[in-house]
Amino acid sequence: NPENCESGGSRILVFVRLRPMAKKEKEAGSRSCVKIVNRKDVYLTEFASETDYLRLKRLRGRHFCFDAAFSDSTTQQEVYATTTAELVEGVLQGRNGSVFCYGATGAGKTYTMLGTVENPGVMVLAIKDLFFQKSGKGSYDGNHLVHLSYLEVYNETVRDLLSPGRPLVLREDKQGIVAAGLTQYRAYSTDEVMSLLQQGNQNRTTEPTRANETSSRSHAILQVTELQFVFREKLLTEVGKLSLIDLAGSERALATDQRSQRSIEGANINRSLLALSSCINALVEGKKHIPYRNSKLTQLLKDSLGGPCNTVMIANISPCNLSFGETQNTLHWADRAKEI
Ligand code: ADP
Ligand code: MG
Repeated sequence: NPENCESGGSRILVFVRLRPMAKKEKEAGSRSCVKIVNRKDVYLTEFASETDYLRLKRLRGRHFCFDAAFSDSTTQQEVYATTTAELVEGVLQGRNGSVFCYGATGAGKTYTMLGTVENPGVMVLAIKDLFFQKSGKGSYDGNHLVHLSYLEVYNETVRDLLSPGRPLVLREDKQGIVAAGLTQYRAYSTDEVMSLLQQGNQNRTTEPTRANETSSRSHAILQVTELQFVFREKLLTEVGKLSLIDLAGSERALATDQRSQRSIEGANINRSLLALSSCINALVEGKKHIPYRNSKLTQLLKDSLGGPCNTVMIANISPCNLSFGETQNTLHWADRAKEI
């Protein structure tokens, strides 16, 4: 119920981020179909001129309300501070946390997560914060360590993005499901992190038809683990873990979502993304059995979704009227996630 915008009691915080209109889109005469009001209300409208608040309010089913909605002028720092900074605090106190970016290809997921050298995103700002909060100088302080792992799930195959090679096998151990042999990179300062992650991102699978462009079907998962030396460096124990996930483009999964279950299985769509939606639906409905085993992504993130973990969803949307359908689907998906 969009009129009833409460986040009290819910374990998942859901945010929406609108990206700016691209130059190309402007030049092609595209109109904006999204309006953000009061930093939390999102209105979807086919008419750019519809700026009258009362008229917007009457657009039933086209009004959504989230924990916060970021307009196209919101800075990376603001997005980080509102969505993730608290999770980083939690990690330093031993709680796990996870942040997902969801949305169609081109909606701004990678920009939000990774960003650019001038405008680093959530991944980089979170790591920076971990360093600064512990040592106050943005680097390794002797008692604490930060380990990074960065992997990709593409076509149900798991690959190490920091050390590309053969696919990794998922194995069950004491901590849950882990990717066997995944590189744990020991980070000493924030300066090295951006280039490390950019390099990792370049290792993501590209679509054969569009060289150099990251496949819209690739999920990237960065896990940042805060470790602490106990007993004068004899014992290294895990404090907390933050998972930052740049999900595959939601467009194909959604396009087939409405068809029958059979055509979903038959079509070559993203199993992991559908499985994530199924898990979210099962969690929303309070089901006992959550189908984590249905995909690699949900197996890897089991402890980040259902367990004692702080979860944040950032739904990325485009303002462009040509993406109206995708934007509406993303907003509906995010609206559903709010109920977990
Ligand atoms: P996705 O990862 O969802 O496919 P991208 O993050 O690659 O989308 O964004 C598509 C394009 O839009 C990129 O060129 C990116 O730099 C730009 N972009 C996305 N979000 C923003 C933003 N908030 N501010 C400025 N540019 C953005
Ligand atoms: Mg991307």
